[in-house]
Amino acid sequence: MGKCVCVVCEFRNGAFRRVTHEVASEGKRIADALGVELCAVAVGSGVAEKASELGRYAVSKVYVADDPALENYLAETHVPVTAELISKCDPAAVILPASVNGKDLGARLAARLQAGLAQDCTQIVCEGANIKALRPIFAGKCFAWCDWADGSLPVISCRPNVMDCLLPSEGKAEVETVPVQIPPVRSCVKAVDLDTSGKVELTEAEIIVSGGRGMKGPENYAMLEELAGLLGAAVGASRAAVDSGWRPHSDQVGQTGKVVNPNLYVAVGISGAIQHLAGMGSSKFIVAVNKDAEAPIFSKADYGIVEDLFTFVPAFTEEVKKLKSSCS
Ligand SMILES: Cc1cc2nc3c(=O)[nH]c(=O)nc-3n(C[C@H](O)[C@H](O)[C@H](O)COP(=O)(O)OP(=O)(O)OC[C@H]3O[C@@H](n4cnc5c(N)ncnc54)[C@H](O)[C@@H]3O)c2cc1C
Repeated sequence: MGKCVCVVCEFRNGAFRRVTHEVASEGKRIADALGVELCAVAVGSGVAEKASELGRYAVSKVYVADDPALENYLAETHVPVTAELISKCDPAAVILPASVNGKDLGARLAARLQAGLAQDCTQIVCEGANIKALRPIFAGKCFAWCDWADGSLPVISCRPNVMDCLLPSEGKAEVETVPVQIPPVRSCVKAVDLDTSGKVELTEAEIIVSGGRGMKGPENYAMLEELAGLLGAAVGASRAAVDSGWRPHSDQVGQTGKVVNPNLYVAVGISGAIQHLAGMGSSKFIVAVNKDAEAPIFSKADYGIVEDLFTFVPAFTEEVKKLKSSCS
């Protein structure tokens, strides 16, 4: 068995993304179960000066590759460099975020390390020294347990917003900056357009208010944006709303959109097609507003409001405003 559990960090705009803390927290649980240390590898520009803060999430040592050429994720550079850092720590398992970049990196890393890959997992357990990971399959209709009975190295990407974060401690991680050879590249990232307009990013949001075809038109999303603003939420959409040109594709939740796992998902005027549920069905708490009591979304919802959304949403928004002003 390897000497540690190794987590692969995601660093963007000078900070570790929240999902890095989630995978570190999950890594710590696995490391404790296996009786080994928790290490991390961090690749990016300016990452060295931030790396010690991973100690707050129980990482004992971070192997760092810090270079301006590593600022944006590019498979040609990040895969070989990350693999080189991982080889320094001799891991029993590698855990990384199942973000857009993480899924790409995970697949390429697994091939390079001749490891076994389980993508987009929602649970990891240890049975003795054996690791098992649970992943949704068939658009979330079934779950599959993966194991590594052939003894290959487990590479596991974790779905964002699913794993519980440890409460940050005062700890500091040891940092080792590794001088790495950055390979020459044929492509480059010219710009990263996150299209969040300064708002909460959908995949990181704790609360999402999402609108579907029932919204009737793009102008009515102002109503959801107002509510989302009060709740500190992000606004999402069904594919029907996106295909109608009411919302950008970056807002789409579902099988061909984003997979989200907020604490609260409010589905407004969304029927709950299986492809939509594939993207939000594992949200911790689901509230649905729909005038059709038979809409499939109600079979997934914790709370269902059978009401015309044009009556309910403004009334609910007013109540939230009153509550907020009475609390301030
Ligand atoms: C390969 C494939 C991939 C797909 N990927 C996705 C995906 O990623 N994401 C996704 O969302 N869909 C996806 N779809 C489409 C999916 O099948 C559905 O067509 C889509 O989710 C429906 O969107 P909707 O619920 O907004 O619209 P509808 O199904 O038309 O539902 C609208 C709902 O609004 C309710 N409503 C209407 N007026 C009001 C009102 N005034 N007050 C309250 N309720 C009202 C209606 O009762 C209805 O339930 C995919 C489909 C395919 C085939």
